[in-house]
Amino acid sequence: MNLTEVILEEGKTLHAEQPLGLEVLDFPFGSYPITKKSPLELTVTNEGEKKLLLNGAVHLEAEVPCDRCLDPVTVPLDIRFDLELDMKLSDEERHEALDESDYLHGYNLDVDKLVYGEALLAWPARVLCRDDCAGLCKVCGQNLNRKTCDCDRTDLDPRMAKIRDIFSMYKEV
Ligand SMILES: [Zn+2]
Ligand SMILES: [Zn+2]
Repeated sequence: MNLTEVILEEGKTLHAEQPLGLEVLDFPFGSYPITKKSPLELTVTNEGEKKLLLNGAVHLEAEVPCDRCLDPVTVPLDIRFDLELDMKLSDEERHEALDESDYLHGYNLDVDKLVYGEALLAWPARVLCRDDCAGLCKVCGQNLNRKTCDCDRTDLDPRMAKIRDIFSMYKEV
């Protein structure tokens, strides 16, 4: 999206519906396909002194494995943001100021990159298929939400094993 038109005129406001090309949220901690997306509703306002205000709203849904049982979970993200851009700064100065606006190159706004960054900020700390998800059996991999198994899972925690050793020492004495 080109911002030149807004930058040239103080007080100007531009509404735009920007379709997203983004198909996958490729985060450092995992890669999640986007299953649903609205266009980005964007309002750009020229506040004077080469400052632009960006108001945006977008709805995304991504498919993410449950943290415990790995079943796919639909994660909805309702993203809203207000950003102020100082267009007096060069791309380089902006990066140095640690403003994460790698979505801006000159007067060109990369809406996919912008939404990617906002999705990362809005990302939930934990994704579970349900609050009481029982997870997978550490021995056989059975999804314990669906079926239980007969595995002895008590030996897997080394701390527990130590405690049991202490108990058996007492028994021997
Ligand atoms: Zn689960
Ligand atoms: Zn098992």
